[in-house]
Amino acid sequence: MSDKLIEVKCTFCGRTWQEDIEQLERIDQELNKQIIFRGKPRRRREQYRVRCPHDGTFFIVEVEVEE
Ligand SMILES: [Zn+2]
Repeated sequence: MSDKLIEVKCTFCGRTWQEDIEQLERIDQELNKQIIFRGKPRRRREQYRVRCPHDGTFFIVEVEVEE
């Protein structure tokens, strides 16, 4: 089990559900490795690809994680 559950919303049908980000496919592009300095701890944004369980639409969710 993981405590990294996030709530995602389908961009197509608008339904929401929870995903475990450790089970998702991470999109690892240079572009997305931007680190955000907002005091401490440091945070960065990661993008994951999710698939809607209702209609099969693929889309990207952005998650802010602590370093
Ligand atoms: Zn959907």
